[in-house]
Amino acid sequence: MPERQLVVFDFDWSMADQDTDRWIFEVNAPAIRRKMEDLEKQVQWTDLVAQSLREGYEKGITREDIEHALRIIPYHPAMVRAVTNLKGRGKTTFLCLSNANSVFISTILKEKSLDNLFEEIITNPAEWDESGLLKLKRRVDPEGPQHSCKIGCSPNMCKGDELDAFLARHGTAFDRIIYVGDGSNDFCPVLRLRSHDIVCCRTFGGLPKRIARDGEKFGLKCEVKYWTGAWELEEIFNKL
Ligand SMILES: [Mg+2]
Repeated sequence: MPERQLVVFDFDWSMADQDTDRWIFEVNAPAIRRKMEDLEKQVQWTDLVAQSLREGYEKGITREDIEHALRIIPYHPAMVRAVTNLKGRGKTTFLCLSNANSVFISTILKEKSLDNLFEEIITNPAEWDESGLLKLKRRVDPEGPQHSCKIGCSPNMCKGDELDAFLARHGTAFDRIIYVGDGSNDFCPVLRLRSHDIVCCRTFGGLPKRIARDGEKFGLKCEVKYWTGAWELEEIFNKL
């Protein structure tokens, strides 16, 4: 049994049973949600969410409206149990690695009484201004040096680089890393895992497709466990 293990969580469709960026507009402004769908291929995603937040603000969507949507986001009770029980057994550090943003994630975690779960939340920075506009930026400033990921990470952040930087910053090595993810941008960090590490891959989303298509080609080393509902992830966690 490992003495020190790290659980890395993607957030949208991994910890939460929805995509925060899309959900808040599905609840509050379906016309903006449709526009995001239309512009997705032309505008970088984080920039598109920032632009949509400004548009929603101009249409009268308030901070309370957005916070309400975040509080009612689909979130499986088994997910709360799974992470709470694993943390309670000690020896596990939790890291959140997400392309959502700091406000969405912290608001939801607070609602679920999980605000102390993560050692670090690595995501896009966001903050409410005094007038109630949520100001969102890319984690990697578009004006500064860019990451050089060739695996498929979005310009706002290379999740593989961020995972490596966390491990370097953390000092002590982890005996085992368990990565929970669903999206194609989770493929890059998963490639950095070792043979005794585990990816808990959701059965839908871009990650299972990339593992099937490119896993061997890109030298994927870790063990792959699949899950669909959070109750199944809970079963995996109970054996960690
Ligand atoms: Mg995701």
